[in-house]
Amino acid sequence: MTAWQNTLLFIDGSWRAGAAGETIPVLNPANERQIGTVAKATNVDLDEALAAVARGFAAWRRVSAWDRAVIMRKAACLLRERVDEIAVTMVHENGKPLAQAEGETLLGADIIDWFANEGLRAYGQIIPPRAPDVVQMTFKVPVGPVAAFTPWNFPINQAIRKIAAALAAGCAIIIKGPEETPASVAALVACFADSGVPAGVLNLVFGTPSDISQYLVPHPVIRKVSFTGSTAVGKHLAALAGAHMKRITMELGGHAPVIVAADVNLDSTVQQIATHKFRNAGQTCVSPTRFLVEGAMAEKFTSRFVDFARKLKVGSGLERETDMGPLANERRIPALEALISDALAKGATLATGGKRIGNAGWFFEPTVLIDVPIETRIMNEEPFGPIAVINRFETIDAAISEANRLSYGLAAYAYTNNPSISARLRAEVESGMITINHLGFALPEVPFGGIKDSGFGTEGGSEAIEAYLESRFVTQKS
Ligand code: NAD
Repeated sequence: MTAWQNTLLFIDGSWRAGAAGETIPVLNPANERQIGTVAKATNVDLDEALAAVARGFAAWRRVSAWDRAVIMRKAACLLRERVDEIAVTMVHENGKPLAQAEGETLLGADIIDWFANEGLRAYGQIIPPRAPDVVQMTFKVPVGPVAAFTPWNFPINQAIRKIAAALAAGCAIIIKGPEETPASVAALVACFADSGVPAGVLNLVFGTPSDISQYLVPHPVIRKVSFTGSTAVGKHLAALAGAHMKRITMELGGHAPVIVAADVNLDSTVQQIATHKFRNAGQTCVSPTRFLVEGAMAEKFTSRFVDFARKLKVGSGLERETDMGPLANERRIPALEALISDALAKGATLATGGKRIGNAGWFFEPTVLIDVPIETRIMNEEPFGPIAVINRFETIDAAISEANRLSYGLAAYAYTNNPSISARLRAEVESGMITINHLGFALPEVPFGGIKDSGFGTEGGSEAIEAYLESRFVTQKS
């Protein structure tokens, strides 16, 4: 932990304090003690980052895709080599169990490798001309300097999807990292700095999020904005970017439905989806939230799910036997309590959990609410915490209609052995991603993104790099 206790800004290839010397405390969510500070950027620092990213872009765009990939692969190797130290750092500042922090870090290395290779395949086109002495072609050019804003729930994963796609495409980037979990992101950035990414290509700042976005997004140097976070903030930033004609990628909130048909294996289904529900203490944009279980199965499913939730070991992420750590920040506790009390007041039943655990550290009980009316807040707002809502359905039409009722459309889950039901779900559920009979999201090579109020664009798969590229058309007569 010592190497990263006080996180600095990384601008133009050097680690530095903010120009005003101000810092923000960083707290350990498992015990609420201060573990360090993070430097706070002012507009003076942002001006330096903007000048650096412009110079960095001018240099990096001239580096061949092949040479960029060599440097990026070195960063991936360093990330793998440093996984133990980085994972412990992440647990200290985010609270998640160590195995999840290790998995996130190693997946980050795979994402770097995948985008490094994808940069080699940024192909253009030759378009048949109307005259024999004309050549018509398109080729891909990097969009320009990027401003990216990443959250605290997956400190490495959310940042690396933006950094890797941008660098592979030949863009330079300023990341505004999460003030709650700054050292994990700084450790990631250090892997790139140590692998030979030139000064100015990758810059890292922290501070007051709204001040930084208000300054960077409209700035003429910035050509592309990428944000991961809540729908409300995403809409605000998308509007700001639109007013200044900037390209955007928005990875926002969700309220994932889980449709469980009565014909599935109960044990394996509950084991898989309940594990996924409580991963990262439910603070996941794709977290399964509205469980819609076919009537004949509902009672048994609920009872197994509740047993599973009660047996989870909640505690410090540093202990190997811990299943679920604390919430990552204090403000989630009143937010979850308010959702639960609203649901109970409107007729829902609390099957288990519902309260904060202890009073040191932001631990919260794995919680299951059943028979929850649709007019409750929790059926409409993203809980972003360890709360599952279980309701029953009688017809597949009713389940699909409930799945599609909200303006969110990020992830959806389904379990069924009936091919005609899965065909309907694939076609009719309104979400950017659906995984049926297994968990298959978030691999580097597959799309990751939402529709409707859940966002715009994808951060995985071959389309993700397109968000950082422009097609330039050239027609030439010999
Ligand atoms: P929040 O809305 O205050 O912040 C969410 C994220 O956006 C944070 O990282 C924050 O630093 C950033 N942010 C906030 N205002 C900003 C601005 N004006 N400009 C730039 N960045 C800004 O919420 P929170 O309490 O930190 O998190 C809870 C909510 O955020 C959840 O309900 C969830 O919807 C959302 N969230 C989503 C993801 C995701 O993976 N999609 C991750 C974290 C948080």
